[in-house]
Formats: sequence, structure tokens, C-alpha cells
Amino acid sequence: MSDKPITVTRPSLPDLNDLQPLLEEIWKSGHITNGGPFHAELEARLCEYLGVKHLSLFANGTLALVTGMQALGLTGEVITTPYTFAATPHSLIWNNLKPVFVDVEPDGFNLDPAAIEAAITSKTTAIVPVHCYGTPANMRQIQDIANSYGLQVLYDAAQAFGVRYEGRSVLEWGDASALSFHATKVFNTFEGGALILKDRETKERVDQLKNFGIVDESTVFAAGINGKMNELQAAVGLLQLQKVNHDIQSRQRIYRDYSTAINGIEGLKLMPEPVDTHWNYSYCPVLVEDEFPLARDELYSEFRKRNILVRRYFYPLVSEFSIYHNPEAIYEQAERASKRVICLPIYSEMDGHDFDRVIACLQAVLKDSVSEKGRG
Ligand SMILES: *Cc1c(COP(=O)(O)O)cnc(C)c1O
Repeated sequence: MSDKPITVTRPSLPDLNDLQPLLEEIWKSGHITNGGPFHAELEARLCEYLGVKHLSLFANGTLALVTGMQALGLTGEVITTPYTFAATPHSLIWNNLKPVFVDVEPDGFNLDPAAIEAAITSKTTAIVPVHCYGTPANMRQIQDIANSYGLQVLYDAAQAFGVRYEGRSVLEWGDASALSFHATKVFNTFEGGALILKDRETKERVDQLKNFGIVDESTVFAAGINGKMNELQAAVGLLQLQKVNHDIQSRQRIYRDYSTAINGIEGLKLMPEPVDTHWNYSYCPVLVEDEFPLARDELYSEFRKRNILVRRYFYPLVSEFSIYHNPEAIYEQAERASKRVICLPIYSEMDGHDFDRVIACLQAVLKDSVSEKGRG
């Protein structure tokens, strides 16, 4: 196959010419990590951009999650979703917590509040919902449940950079939220992440926890970790922030083009844009229903044959990993989604040629299936 590979995402990069002077500043100052000037500036700029008050930068999103759980003092059982990336439950294990998976909503990919409530025991201390594909979780109902049972809520907002619901950042909900700035995310610092916290005291404690729990030269208050973001990552972040609105706008255009092209095809359903939401168009999940002539995995192979590297997010479910697997547990909706979703390529610099190749593949498999029917 001579066609170049089309990956499901491609990282947005800052202009090298813009990075050069920032690198020179770092080299001149010699302050390369441990809360340097770019680190401080990126925290301030992100608070402004995201509309939040207290944010602590991390080397990656997983360390933000792990530290968030530690800072909230979670113990025992924590309710979370099986329809997520491995980092969500893994972070619980790193905190010696027991993940309790419950199903997602019938018409969506986020935790089902009724299933959360049904899974609460005397050992439950928290809920860790994911804003899957950047679509806001059912935050109001989740908060009501948390309030009734005295639970904390830590959002895995790794996919929800810049998302606002009813005019407010989704990051304002719950007790804390974790963002990821990994290369595959809408806003990236190559690797990176952040915790959004409710008050200054918690942010200060988190700043200590990400630096081994060090308070001062002679005081270490907890077994913290090294989760610090360095100056190089922060410098990249400052440049990326200047173009993230542009990147999200390009993604929106591509998403809407997909919507036009796909929603006329019987058996394919692009996830609808969430209501009352300023969204980030971070993923392009398409449900492959029974009416479509090919099963999801057959369609996946057809794309792959043409060097279009679509992904099955999230297949298998994390609850299927041997370390989490409970043969008695059934997550009907999550399993259904896991067997049917295919994520199409979407990234800010996707050009018309690559887009057309994705659509041409769909048209080709449809045409083949019609001619096969004709022969049969
Ligand atoms: C990307 C992602 C993470 C992990 O973030 P890293 O920055 O790669 O450590 C965690 N949870 C979800 C849902 C993600 O998509």
C-alpha cells in the first residue's frame, strides 16, 4: 500500500522559531525544573484560559490522578467506569484503592448515576467519573449522590481540556479534576498534566505532594511522588496555548464534515455533539450498528488495509484486563459500546485529502457489500 498512514490523531506542534527564544531563556537562567518561571506562568495562563482558580501542573496526567487521589485522602472502594483508558483504574491501584466498576449510560459513554448509587457500600469513599471523549459526565446527578452519601468526586478530565457546560468549565465540578497534556490530547506539552483544586490550601498540599511531600528542608509530610512538570514542557505549553482555540476550531470543522458525510449512511452513527456544551472535538467516535453491512472489527480491518489507523477506544474494557477481571460482572452498555465504537482520525492539521481517504474507504466497503449482495 503506497498511501501514507493516516493516524487517528497527530500532535499539534509549536513553531520551532517561537520555541528557540524560550529555550535560550531557560539555558541562560539555568532554572530547568522545580517550579521555574515558565511553570508559574503556564499555571497562571491556564487558570485564565480554563476559568479555574487553583491549578497545579504535573509531568503527566497519570501522576496528576495518582496525586489527586492521595491529596483527597481516599480509602477503601472507589466507583469508576470500565469504559476508559488504563490510567484511570491504575491510579487507584497505586493508591491501594479498590476500583469498583459500574456501567455507563444506555445512550452515552459516561457513568450511569443509577448504577453508581447501586454500587455504594460502607467502604465507598469516592467516585472517579471520566468525561469520556470530552463529553461532560452527568455532573449534577453525580454530585447529588456524592452529597447524599458523603463521597468525594475526582473527575478524570484527561479528555476534557477547555470543555464548558452551561457556560462554566467542567473542571469546576467535584472536589478535583485531572487533565492530561499528552501528545494525543487537544492541548499537549508533549507529556504533561494538571490537577484543578477547590482552594489554595489543597493546591499547596498538592504542590508539596508532587515534590516528594517536601514541605521545607527538614520536613516531609507524606510519601509524595516526583510529579513535577519541567521548564521545557511549560515553555512548550505556553506556545501551544496561543493556538489551542485555532486547533479546536479546525477540529470542529472536521467533526461537522464527518457528521455530514456519515449520518446519511445507514448503520453508522457519529456521536452527537453534547448539548449545552462548549466542546473540544477531541475524538470522533462512530457507532457501527447492526444495519451496517460490516461488523465493527471488519470495518476496522478495511480501514487498516488502506493504512488508515482508526482506533477501537475503548476495546477491550479496562474491566477485561486480567488484573481487574471479575467473571461475574456484566457491564451491558459499556460492553456494547466497546464492541461497536470506532474512532476516526481527527487532528487540527488534517487536510481534505486525508479526510477524503477516510470517506472513500467507507464508500468502497459499502459498494463492495452491495455488489456481494447482488451476486448472492
Ligand atoms: C490520556 C488519558 C489519561 C492519562 O494521561 P497521561 O497524560 O497520558 O498520563 C488518563 N485518563 C484518560 C481518560 C485519558 O484519556
